[in-house]
Amino acid sequence: MPDSPEGGCACGQVRYRLRSAPLFVHCCHCKDCQRQTGSAFVLNALIETGRVECLSGEPALSPMPTDSGRPHDVARCSGCGTAVWSHYGGVKALTFVRVGTLDEPVALPPDVHIYTRSKLPWIALPSGLPAFEAYYDSKTLWPAESLARRRAIFG
Ligand SMILES: [Zn+2]
Ligand SMILES: [Zn+2]
Repeated sequence: MPDSPEGGCACGQVRYRLRSAPLFVHCCHCKDCQRQTGSAFVLNALIETGRVECLSGEPALSPMPTDSGRPHDVARCSGCGTAVWSHYGGVKALTFVRVGTLDEPVALPPDVHIYTRSKLPWIALPSGLPAFEAYYDSKTLWPAESLARRRAIFG
């Protein structure tokens, strides 16, 4: 992975840089993610919001309805509408960066597959990677360094 991976929207107005590696990378197969992306799943790199540096074009937050009713704000380019990241559960300290908007998404493969209960049947998951029917307990899965970083923002 590049030290400070960069990414942006489709029109180029929004450009951003991650100041470090993410905490963890989710591949989410839930119905919300399928609807909102129009695809089979979403790839989210979880990282402290303070480590997401906007280089140009501040994206605008739009609230999304969710199946759970918990808040989900998606940050989109005001020019082209590309969703570059989001905040779940009203937690603004944590950013879920959409890995597909990075210049090199190959650098951040998923660490876990979640909500596989709604995974489309023709997607085969790799063996050896954790996969959960719904959500999971990050304490059992995240590296110690990521858990320490999370404690630093949530106490
Ligand atoms: Zn754009
Ligand atoms: Zn999801």
